[in-house]
Parts: sequence; C-alpha cells; structure tokens
Amino acid sequence: MLRTISIKLDTTSEQQVLLEQLQRVFNQACNTIASIAMKRRCWNRVALHNLIYHQIRSDQTNGQTVLGSQMVCNAIKTVCDAYNVLKIKKAESVPLIMFRQKASVHFDKRTYSLRTGTVSLYTLSGRILVQMNLGEFQQNYLQRGRPKEAELICKNGQWFFNLVLDFSDAQLLPPEGKVLGVDLGENNLAATSSGKLFGGGALRHERDCALSLRKQLQSNGSKSAKQLLKKISGREARHVKHVNHIVSKAIVQEAQAMGCDTIAMESLTNIRCRIRAGKRVRSRLHRWAWAQLQEFVQYKAEAVGLNVVFVNPAYTSQKCAECEQIGVRQKHRFVCNFCGVQRHSDLNASRNIRRIAVSAGTATGTVNCPNVAIT
Ligand SMILES: [Zn+2]
Repeated sequence: MLRTISIKLDTTSEQQVLLEQLQRVFNQACNTIASIAMKRRCWNRVALHNLIYHQIRSDQTNGQTVLGSQMVCNAIKTVCDAYNVLKIKKAESVPLIMFRQKASVHFDKRTYSLRTGTVSLYTLSGRILVQMNLGEFQQNYLQRGRPKEAELICKNGQWFFNLVLDFSDAQLLPPEGKVLGVDLGENNLAATSSGKLFGGGALRHERDCALSLRKQLQSNGSKSAKQLLKKISGREARHVKHVNHIVSKAIVQEAQAMGCDTIAMESLTNIRCRIRAGKRVRSRLHRWAWAQLQEFVQYKAEAVGLNVVFVNPAYTSQKCAECEQIGVRQKHRFVCNFCGVQRHSDLNASRNIRRIAVSAGTATGTVNCPNVAIT
C-alpha cells in the first residue's frame, strides 16, 4: 500500500533561489525530452533514455543544461509518465506535452535523502539540507513507511515535498477483535461505539455553513454565482478539510485510549451497498466531505499502527445494536421495543458497525480497501 504525504518545507531565501533554478532547468529539460518523445513516438523509459542520452550530454557541453545525469533520468521518467497517461493508440497523432516552468520536480531515492527533521535535496549547486515542517501524524508516518519517490512543488511561494511511502511491510497491530465502531452522521460528524460524539456543535455548524453556501451557489447556476463559487470553493474546501482533520485526529486518539486495534467505519464508496443502504446514506448531500473524513481517519490510524475496516452500512441505523431487531428512530434517539434500549441514534449505529466488524472477524482482505465491504 502506497500513501503520499505532503511535507511543508521551511526554506531559507537562498534555498528558494536554488529550488526555483532547479525547477526551471528541470522543466526545460522535460520540454526538450518531450519534443523528442513526440517526434519519435517513444515513451518507454529505457528506449527514450537511449535516444536522448547523447543529445543531453552534448547540450551539457554546450552549456545549455547543467542537470545532473540522475535528474535527467527523473526528467525522462516524468515525460514518459505524462505520455503513458494519455494512452495514445497506434493510429493517433502524438501531442506535444508542455511542462510549465513552475511544474513539479521529480525526485528519486538517489536525488534526495531523509535525515531527522530535514531532507537533503539535489540542486544544480550541490545538495542542500532543507528543514521539514512535520506534524505529529507525518512523523508517525515517516517512522513506519518506506520512502519511495517524491515530487517537489511550489504553491503560492511555499515549497512542499510530496513523498510517497510504502506501507506494505509496515506492522499493524494484530487484529484481536478490539474494534472501535465509528458512525458518520449528520448531527454529529462522528459517533464512536465507546460512547463519544465528535464534531457536533460549533464544528458541525462551521462545516455545514461552508457546504450549504456552496450548494446554494451550485443550484443557482448563474454566471456570477459560478464566479463566486470558484472564488470561495478553495476557501470552503480548506475549511471542511480543517474540521475533518480535527475530528479524525480525535477519533484515532479515542481508539488508542480505548485500547482498540481496529477502527471500523461504514463503506460509503461501494455503490451496491449504497443502494441497499437506503435513504439515510444516499441522501447525504456532501458525500465528499464524509469520504474525506474517512480518508483522514484511515491514514491517521495506519500511521499509529491501527487496522481500518469498512463494513456494509445497511441497517446500521435501523437495527438495535443489542438485539438486532428493527427499532424506531425518533430524531436523535433510537428506541428498541424488543429489549427496551434507548440511546442516541448515532451511538447505536456506531455499535452496529462495531458488531458487524467483530462478527465478520477482522479479515485482512478488507483492511485498507474501502471498496470491499464486510456484509
Ligand atoms: Zn433491542
């Protein structure tokens, strides 16, 4: 399993100059390579390398490019990847792919290395040691995953190192049925089977305001509404993201505090399950916001070694978590007429999710795969 983390870099002004220079020369090289790839209809890495190597070397003696040979390999990879994505058929003409001066720079393991709190990066003037601005979960991630390739990008003057980590050999806790069920709801953003409600009140209100304004503008459809939507959408999306970060962190901390080895959530992405799941799940207007919350819970959980499973959400809100009979929902209360249980409906749902995950056994095949639901 591969995960990408976006690491903010604390660059000095001298380092910024060096990175900008690298970015410019790297993307110039990509453009040169792309023109050859287009003319020769070649986007196989090895073949393109053989075609290009001599030209790049002769350019270097002419002083046109000073990109090191390993960075040239990275530029070739970038160009090949860009052409491969297009899936050009034999009869089709080949477009020339242009790389912007500010496009990202591909790094492989030979052009960067990680130290404690810093990353050593290749530049045209030798290696530089750049401070990484690491959050708590990123530190956990770095400790547990095997670093692979990375993209260096600059957004609004801020440099980021988007690093791919391989978790295929990472150790997760052995699943022993200590499951925390998490229900994502409309009233509270999340409820856990341990009895906690998260992201209600102010947080939910903040997020809903952000989402409903977007919704209004989307349904309006006028030109000015579209312009405003474009303007605000980045800001609103960032706000939802902020709220989801807070709530997901709290959920993972709760799982750790309760001594759980697994977090179970409902599968929102499986379309078949969604249809069977009934009105409650289907009617959720802002699916992407929930999907993002799940994604955040998943990567934060994995970063601390917790398993994540997804269960089929059918009946999780209608059934009593204790006796599995269909009960009655009265606003936020769930009432079971068979065993007499009365509790918050979201908490009841989270206990159902926990029950389903425990009874299915924590099958490893379902771990980390939101498209496969335990039924
Ligand atoms: Zn009951």
